[in-house]
Amino acid sequence: MLGCLALLGTISLQEELLTVGLTVGLTSGALLLYRWRLMRLALHMMLLCVPLELFYRAVYRGPISPGVILSIAETSLRETRELLGGHSLVSFLLIPLAALAVYAVFASWVAENPFALRRCVVAGAVAVVMITGALVIARGQSDSRADLSGIVKDGLKATFPIDIAHSLQVVVGGFIHIHRALAARANFSFQNVHMVNADQPRASPEIYVIIVGEASRRADWSLYGYGRSTTPRLDAIRHDLIVFDRVTSNATVTIFSIPLALTRATAANFGTASSEKSIIGLLRQGGYAVHWISNQEHYGRNQNPISAIALEANTASFPEHLPENSGGVGFDSNLLKRFNDELARSADNAKIVVFLHMMGSHFRYLDRYPAEFDKFRGFDGARRKLQQWQMQLVNEYDNSVYFTDYILREVIDRLMMCRCKAGLIYFSDHAERLFDNGMSDDGFGHGFPTVSRHEIEIPFFIWLSRSYRDANPELIPRLEANAHAAVELHSLFETLVDLTGLTYDGRIAATSLFSESYRPPRNLDVLNMSAQRVSFAVEDGDAWQACIPAQKAAADAVSAVGASGPACLQTNGAPR
Ligand SMILES: [Zn+2]
Repeated sequence: MLGCLALLGTISLQEELLTVGLTVGLTSGALLLYRWRLMRLALHMMLLCVPLELFYRAVYRGPISPGVILSIAETSLRETRELLGGHSLVSFLLIPLAALAVYAVFASWVAENPFALRRCVVAGAVAVVMITGALVIARGQSDSRADLSGIVKDGLKATFPIDIAHSLQVVVGGFIHIHRALAARANFSFQNVHMVNADQPRASPEIYVIIVGEASRRADWSLYGYGRSTTPRLDAIRHDLIVFDRVTSNATVTIFSIPLALTRATAANFGTASSEKSIIGLLRQGGYAVHWISNQEHYGRNQNPISAIALEANTASFPEHLPENSGGVGFDSNLLKRFNDELARSADNAKIVVFLHMMGSHFRYLDRYPAEFDKFRGFDGARRKLQQWQMQLVNEYDNSVYFTDYILREVIDRLMMCRCKAGLIYFSDHAERLFDNGMSDDGFGHGFPTVSRHEIEIPFFIWLSRSYRDANPELIPRLEANAHAAVELHSLFETLVDLTGLTYDGRIAATSLFSESYRPPRNLDVLNMSAQRVSFAVEDGDAWQACIPAQKAAADAVSAVGASGPACLQTNGAPR
């Protein structure tokens, strides 16, 4: 059975031989320990991990990674229920295995079942043959001397249960790192934060709203040319929006992409996300009151990078505390009422920044919108041929975008009523795969081991009030000049500094979308689910070239919450 486990996640003959060989070797070694009751119990406890391993390999096609362990540590009952429900067949098939594992744990204590030494030796010999075969193939495929010890090391890290043990070690190391960094963060401040035109009279009040979307893909917005009218309310005010059409996120999962957007951390130096305060700290130093209103749970048991950012605000509120949610998450419309309440509480001359964190288009899509937004059905407006079940999910996804459009327009309309200096930026934390290769593609979701452009191409737009435009006429042409440039979401940090009229010592102004000398990135850096840095070369237009992280460097994975990512190598091996 363990051999089948390994087979599910591997690709080439060499990898299969190596993984199965290592698994057989580990199993025969483990069986030698069977004569001791405590060891037997410990081994059977490990069987409890088998359903988890099988689930991840069946659904995401890869071994357990630090990102998976971190997500399990940070997830909620609601999210787990939705994920298992979304892959109900796999989940159902794994129930007997989980039951068997629980039984084995109890049975192992009373059983007397030493395994014959001779059988272990035979199994060990089979393992040696398979591993040798894999290494011979690897040597044959390589032009130069292959790094055989590196191949075995990488193979071990992708083999059950080493993958889980390795990921746990990385995550625990990461938590130790982050707790040390948090102490440094508490004492961190940005240098010389002040208003650019501090001597000029300031309009009152000033309100800026930053809407953090979730799993929304640009390709499914009619604002960006999608054939279905998914964003009609924003389309209607298109002339009032500055729509950026080549923005990519710097990660494919929320826990990495939001820190990369709201702190000075980069994919090459993610540790900054935990050692420095975020843009919220900077805004507060600049005199703004900042409020974080979330429709995503607190992730509260561990202070991960997102909750650390949220808790920098003057106030932070989360959906599980709302009486109507009974501990769960409701539709994003609850953000509207809470936003209005926050505005009502603010003083007349307040200078405030409000972050609204949506649930957006996160799976399960069906749970993201009320019945009256069930607009897209059947195959109407489908852009490609899909199976019935795929089309059903695309329809639900598009309905969630349609609901997001409603929420965004409601917030903009509310800001219009203020007749004050106001601005709004919307972006999605990352995008989503949605059967992009047609009927044979069963991939949907985000956070796959291999980064796809469909997971990072996000919507991003800015709305500015009439008063803001009148007070800053020079800024609008600058934004419009950059609207079609390649942009990494990382640019948001300096863009927010300019939006709110602040500056500070040591800023990198050329990454701001307000900058006359904005410099588009040559490479788009992305952290994958395992916190490995992957680069995409960006040419003019849409020519993308994926850059695969070097296998060895990738295996020495980065702490999920600390340290820098490995250098990315192009497929020809040239460092970049
Ligand atoms: Zn997300």
